[in-house]
Amino acid sequence: MSSSLKNSLAKIRPVIKKIHAYHVPDSEGLIKLDAMENPYQLPDDLKNKLQASLATAALNRYPDPSAKSLRDKLQVVMQVPGDKSIVLGNGSDELIQMLAMAIADHGADGHGSDKSQNKKDVCLMSFDPGFVMYKMISDFVGIDYVGVPLQNDFSLDMEVTRKAIEKYQPEMIFIAYPNNPSANCYNEKEIEEIILSAPGMVVLDEAYHPFAQKSFMNRLAEFENLLVMRTVSKMGLAGLRLGLLCGHPEIIAEIDKVRLPYNINVLTQVAAEFVLDNISVLDEQAEKIRDEREVLLAAMNAISGLEVFPSEANFILFRVLGKDASEVFESIKSSGVLIKNMKADEGLLENCLRVTVGTPDENKAFISALSSAMKNQS
Ligand SMILES: *Cc1c(COP(=O)(O)O)cnc(C)c1O
Repeated sequence: MSSSLKNSLAKIRPVIKKIHAYHVPDSEGLIKLDAMENPYQLPDDLKNKLQASLATAALNRYPDPSAKSLRDKLQVVMQVPGDKSIVLGNGSDELIQMLAMAIADHGADGHGSDKSQNKKDVCLMSFDPGFVMYKMISDFVGIDYVGVPLQNDFSLDMEVTRKAIEKYQPEMIFIAYPNNPSANCYNEKEIEEIILSAPGMVVLDEAYHPFAQKSFMNRLAEFENLLVMRTVSKMGLAGLRLGLLCGHPEIIAEIDKVRLPYNINVLTQVAAEFVLDNISVLDEQAEKIRDEREVLLAAMNAISGLEVFPSEANFILFRVLGKDASEVFESIKSSGVLIKNMKADEGLLENCLRVTVGTPDENKAFISALSSAMKNQS
């Protein structure tokens, strides 16, 4: 290794070097039930119309930097209260990054908080097991992440949560509602208590709203430190990369300052507006997925040797009992179905796998692969 390369690598922060790059497994030739995607495409007539509207996009021009027209449409379709503002992200992942950047404080020299002033470290809090990007992005921007452990049934442990808020005084608390990977919605009253006792902002991450149909969106007026985040990814437009953050105009205006000017490209703006004008198609797909989730839950519950957790999302978490989950995962994969291996030897996700609700045929293929994996002698 040349010394210039060595010196360059030595400049990368240790916390970044320690991160395992986000790994997306190869799914070629497999039924893809690993990533919470909607299995349905747009119907052909809509695809043709979409193609025509995309052809009108001015690719030679920079996009509208604030995507005003798209935001106006989202305000109506997502029922964002009229006096609240919206900032858009390249997926809600980018919004999480913008939020973290807005609270990160590395002091005037840009290298770590100024300890001489006895300032506390900036803290982003969430719940574990939870969405991995909260911790990852905290590492990216150099702030502390505190994951408050959930109870065995994945509900909030309020006693531990109260103590953690008191101790760490988090600048920001993320609550995934429903949670990923456990698929449950936390108790509404307990969330209210967290919002009321938080010393800073609380972000309700409602990525799975179409499947849970529960929301804090209409409660933004009650809590001025509350922000509600949505995405179009899980409802059928994962390829577009579009998320929205809604809240008090003065908070949203600050978050908007760390947004890169053209973060929503023109094709995303045009395509998203087109689909929002035809939102009933996605609503119907979400309804099919919710129905199919119940079918899948029943079929999984009928297989012995599994602990299947309830779901208000478009995926199901389950634990394999008396067998190695990784072997079951591989066996299912060799039958042509890719799901997600949580790869935990201990803790709340011990020996757990996660499957996304697919089409009826895909789900049947999964159930048959799972049944035979569970029957195999290990
Ligand atoms: C999938 C997911 C997201 C990310 O959504 P994108 O908009 O695709 O970036 C955010 N939060 C949770 C809890 C998720 O599961």
